[in-house]
Amino acid sequence: MNLKKEFPILNQKVNGHPLVYFDNAATSQKPQCVINALNNYYSTFNSNVHRGVHELSQVATNAYENGREIVKNFIGAKRTEEIIFTKGTTDGINIVARSWAANNLQKGDEVLITTMEHHSNIVPWQMVCEQTGATLKVAPIDSRGQLIMEEFFNLINANTKLISVSHVSNTLGTINPIEKIIDFAKKFNCKVLIDAAQSIPHFKISVKDLKCDFLAFSGHKIFGPTGIGVLYVNKENYSSMTPFIGGGDMIKEVTFEKTTYNVPPFMFEAGTPNIAGVIGLSAAIKFVSEIGINKIESLEKELLTYATKEMSAIEGLKIIGDSALKTSVISFNLSNIHHFDLGTLLDQLGIAIRTGHHCTQPLMNFFEISGTARVSFAFYNTKQEIDYFVKSLKKAIAMLS
Ligand code: PMP
Repeated sequence: MNLKKEFPILNQKVNGHPLVYFDNAATSQKPQCVINALNNYYSTFNSNVHRGVHELSQVATNAYENGREIVKNFIGAKRTEEIIFTKGTTDGINIVARSWAANNLQKGDEVLITTMEHHSNIVPWQMVCEQTGATLKVAPIDSRGQLIMEEFFNLINANTKLISVSHVSNTLGTINPIEKIIDFAKKFNCKVLIDAAQSIPHFKISVKDLKCDFLAFSGHKIFGPTGIGVLYVNKENYSSMTPFIGGGDMIKEVTFEKTTYNVPPFMFEAGTPNIAGVIGLSAAIKFVSEIGINKIESLEKELLTYATKEMSAIEGLKIIGDSALKTSVISFNLSNIHHFDLGTLLDQLGIAIRTGHHCTQPLMNFFEISGTARVSFAFYNTKQEIDYFVKSLKKAIAMLS
């Protein structure tokens, strides 16, 4: 399979140059099969789910619930009821904050996160800590952008009720040792939430092996549509969770005096869900599975190694985050050139990169920088594109310095 050819958007010129899309950590592109699945749903069986006796509604319901099965198998969950469809990673983390943490935390309790978290894994905990009186603790990192594990473990104690940690940093590419973290947390009966936004598209994840309590990811980072995501909840946690969004579909019976709730996961999916999103995500997961997630991992590793070597040879270029274990993300700065100016110039040459704080302002404060330029590769990127990028980078340096 010519992998790049599967993505129609990549076959175009931007500002007169063939598009080089190196902003995959922000959002990935969509293969034709995902676009077709969305088109097919809206063209042939668009209908609301769960409450229709008519044919189209039943076809739509089957497709939606089959999506839960596909996700369950993809992440190695034991039961479909452990899969809640959300709007994305941010939504999933906020559901845990509202439905679990707000009910189970009190003054004296601690929530542990890390210095490298995305804002979506910081702000919900600040909000819930303010509400409950719990305290937010932050685990430190070293200058390479890796967790300092000894200090991380020292921060865990009998008061630690939840650890919420990114599997992979969107800014640094660092892969965190979540297996060790989960093992250690279990000794303290502490819940663990994994933010898998940046790991799900890059390598195999099995929640059954990880034994995490919660895991959240976004469809759009794994070649699916925007507005759809997944929150995995280990079934044992449902007994200590209550829904925080009320409405249709999440109820068993409603009277003006009292409402009883539907069972999970429906209890946490109030209102008409993102049916098209689930259908598109299902097609994306099938596509990834057909290529093979291990093959994706090795293709991207090659791109990372090649680009790191080529970029490291450029004078004045500093890579931010060189963890021993990384995904295909390279954040960097150039001496005397602002990342924004660089990004704007590269755009003129058809290259899409991201610049700024990447929703990790506390991490930028740690490195004492205002932002970085960031390239992030998917398996459809090529060494030729990296060559063109490096050549363009040198051109930009000559023009801007
Ligand atoms: N966590 C991480 C590590 C991310 O990279 C992102 C997206 N950049 C998010 C959370 C939030 O994802 P979303 O915007 O899709 O909800």
